[in-house]
Amino acid sequence: MKQESPDSSGIDSQRCTCTVCPLLCDDILITADGVEQACGHGRETILAALANDERPGAQPAEASENDQLLGRETATTRAAVLLSSARRVLITGLANATLEAITAACDLAETLGAAVDAGLPESARSAGPTIARAGEVTAAFEELRDRADLVIFWCCDPATSHPRFIERFVAPPLADGRQRRTIAIGPDRVIPDAVTHRHLPLARDLAVELARCLHLRIAGRHAPDTLDGPLASDSNQLHDAIRSATCVAIVTGDADDSVGLEAWGIVYLVRTIAHEKQAFQIPLGAGLAAGGVNNAGASAACTWRYGAAGAIARADRMGSLFLPGESDARRLISRGEVDAVVVLGRLSEPLEQAIADRGDALSLVRISDAVEMKHRPAGRTIQFRCSSLTIATTGTMLREDGRRVVLAPHQQATLPQMRQLLVDLEQAVRQSLALPAAGGRP
Ligand code: SF4
Repeated sequence: MKQESPDSSGIDSQRCTCTVCPLLCDDILITADGVEQACGHGRETILAALANDERPGAQPAEASENDQLLGRETATTRAAVLLSSARRVLITGLANATLEAITAACDLAETLGAAVDAGLPESARSAGPTIARAGEVTAAFEELRDRADLVIFWCCDPATSHPRFIERFVAPPLADGRQRRTIAIGPDRVIPDAVTHRHLPLARDLAVELARCLHLRIAGRHAPDTLDGPLASDSNQLHDAIRSATCVAIVTGDADDSVGLEAWGIVYLVRTIAHEKQAFQIPLGAGLAAGGVNNAGASAACTWRYGAAGAIARADRMGSLFLPGESDARRLISRGEVDAVVVLGRLSEPLEQAIADRGDALSLVRISDAVEMKHRPAGRTIQFRCSSLTIATTGTMLREDGRRVVLAPHQQATLPQMRQLLVDLEQAVRQSLALPAAGGRP
């Protein structure tokens, strides 16, 4: 299943894709001697998946109900009855799935009239996603690599969240030989101090004020005279660096910001710089700490089908209701608005906790590659095991900058793909609801 073709770093060899973080590095070599090119975390996770796969008797039953092993067909029938008799269903965890599996999950949601939300932070903000409120000026990671002579890490630390981001996109020299400078603003140093790198320490809660102040100065408007020492000094240094750069990239992470003010401030700052020179934002999510690696794919698939990236109150491709801060997964679960949840893969800790807090009032259908569930909810739980997301999943995902990545798995799957399990489940739900088979769908 490995592919031979050049990747984004120009390597031409047999390679496979790492699906451990949203960077989806496509230059990984797995040989008898080990895992090459991957970061430490990626290597560790891939080796653990391989070891798990090679354990004696490593292929257990494909499904279970409350820890009792079941055949796949029986489990599918039982899950279909459970879901079709539920009061209201939520489908979540889409960011762990390929675009093909997300499409199958959306088909299932429409058949059930279910709510859909991937559990991404932007859907939980009452003001909704920044891109819908203010738009975004963004670029591919490779554009940063080839064009940006000033990279500002804005209160984020890609070295931790996306371990190879700096190696792949910031460390390589600029295409035209100019020197690239980097500045880290916020609590994290990101890169050790050097002639070309500066760290400007700043408390996270001052980030919005700094963005607004810079925005005013770059727009040639009056900035407040009352700024205190570090804020004024950081503002001066950033302003000078931006003025002397040719192309500016501002790399951001997910802010713990229930209103989305910080994201909004950065969008306006980047847009103002872009009026004078090349400038763009590289919005990175939580990376390794996120609930999945295909956040961009989940957002794109839901936006294409329902007009919004998540918080879909009821899936309907003819017109869905989008309720940010109301129909996001955590609120639907913790407010008791759903009594059954279909989970694809792993979830973030707050979502797992929200499920656990509902006790036996919530039923779960989980499709995951995990041999054992880390979290064992008290309610009725039917679990399907799919092929390993780390070493044997086929399909397509989107990197966070929107680049399409066709997964090249290390080995052929011995368990069904997540997409196939969802397709089978949707057919069984149709039978259970006495609906006609879904033929001829686009
Ligand atoms: S940076 Fe992410 S995708 Fe790349 S090798 Fe490390 S864990 Fe895998």
